[in-house]
Amino acid sequence: TVQDVADVLKKDIDHVFKVLNFADKTGMTYTKDTVIHNPQVVRDIVKISGCRFKLVARPDAEMKDEENKDAVPAPPAAEEALRPRPPVVCVMGHVDHGKTTLLDALRDTAVVETEFGGITQHIGAFEVKLPSGGKVTFLDTPGHAAFTSMRSRGAHSTDIVVLVVAADDGVMEQTLESIRMAREANVPILVAINKIDKPGVNVERVLRGLAQHGVVCEQAGGEVQAVPVSALRRRNLDALLEALTLQAQLMQLRADPAGQVEGVVIEALVDPRTGKQATVLVRRGTLRRGCTLVAGAGWAKVRILRSAEGASIEEAPPSCPVVVLGWRELPAAGDLVLEVASEKRAAEVMRWRAAQRMKEKQQSDSEVIEAKMSEHQQRYRAMLSRKRAMGRYKLKPEGPREKMIKEDTHPALNVIVKGDVDGSVEAILDILDTYDDHERVRLDLVHFGVGQVTPNDLEIAEAFNAIIYAFNVECPPAVAADAKDLNISVRKHNVIYRLVDDVKQEITARIPVTQ
Ligand code: GDP
Repeated sequence: TVQDVADVLKKDIDHVFKVLNFADKTGMTYTKDTVIHNPQVVRDIVKISGCRFKLVARPDAEMKDEENKDAVPAPPAAEEALRPRPPVVCVMGHVDHGKTTLLDALRDTAVVETEFGGITQHIGAFEVKLPSGGKVTFLDTPGHAAFTSMRSRGAHSTDIVVLVVAADDGVMEQTLESIRMAREANVPILVAINKIDKPGVNVERVLRGLAQHGVVCEQAGGEVQAVPVSALRRRNLDALLEALTLQAQLMQLRADPAGQVEGVVIEALVDPRTGKQATVLVRRGTLRRGCTLVAGAGWAKVRILRSAEGASIEEAPPSCPVVVLGWRELPAAGDLVLEVASEKRAAEVMRWRAAQRMKEKQQSDSEVIEAKMSEHQQRYRAMLSRKRAMGRYKLKPEGPREKMIKEDTHPALNVIVKGDVDGSVEAILDILDTYDDHERVRLDLVHFGVGQVTPNDLEIAEAFNAIIYAFNVECPPAVAADAKDLNISVRKHNVIYRLVDDVKQEITARIPVTQ
């Protein structure tokens, strides 16, 4: 609660309210019993208050025995439930070898096949229907990006890599990189030797080059299929597609078309016309309208399913890429998509995941702060011994001054300390700590740090009506000008006792006249 924070920081509760106003930009109202849930706000309070504290995440009592409410994939399907499914293919290879041209050519093939005849939209993937009745799904982004994004969460959605090698150029750096990536992910390669329309190209040379790097094609006595094509002239693309279906058969790619839908988000965006939309590649089950889905931090009650051609479709079986509309919260590319039983269940999963994210963030926040603080404390200790050698200062206000202070609020001096190094800042803070006459005039360090005076310091100074003490650091002219406009006093010093004397004088000036 706000009161707890004030107690722990040994600050007046009004001070904490002030900091809260500053730190929490949501505009919520706090009372002393308000629980501060946002760890960022707590962190800001600690920081702005100039306290040397570490914020440690406490194992949360209420979370301790809570059962896992997350959505989970179903166990592997029974053998007899599995049905063949089309392969999901990713096109990779060296720059300029023709990946984009090949995808364009294949996409055109897909359009010819559809009765809509329209332009296929880029939805992250598209399907090509073969005369033989089979299908191949291509991921629409050429290169590494699509491949790696499909690898997220250990669930690799690419079944086959089509490695495009230009016959006139041969095996190049990114060709090798693609081979490496496919191997690491244990995804088989099918080679498309491109640009065979070019005069004088040497396919043999490409095959030899590949064999040297362990990709031994059938033509060279190996097992990797290689198909010579011309993406530009649309030549031999049928053979490439047939080779892909053959490869898929060899791999016995199968999935259960019934049961809980599972998929992966390929692309997510807000369309100016249709709103939140995400392309989902179905991996198992059959996605239908009315399904409730969760994916990462997003969830949907599926309203509309659309193909790449923009046609509304009723269902999307395994390996089918489909645009899903109906997201309440949009997921991110790479998120695992799972069907859940109801909207109520989706809400529960979303709550659980939000809590998990919050916990993770708290943990990483406190780790960072702890690391910073221990570094800080070490320097502080080193500084203390140095300071002892230098001699001590005791901060005491001088005697009462003949000055009328009419304000009925408790007199207070708020200061911000900026210094050139941690050591000097710590030395100054340590002297300020010796001040013990808060009864008469409260001295509050509202912020401190290393480095020159910044606009942020001015912001805090303005909020707290504080004086900025700059020790051995500059106040850039632009900041100085702003400070003047805002009527904020920036005091530059380069001798610690002079700075301390300055603070003393300010305190003294605030002592109310006693009658
Ligand atoms: P990417 O960088 O791998 O996507 O390569 P692009 O598809 O952008 O192709 C690079 C260049 O090669 C472009 O000028 C294409 O027109 C050209 N190109 C692609 N495929 C062929 C082909 O089969 N034959 C010929 N002659 N040129 C091609």
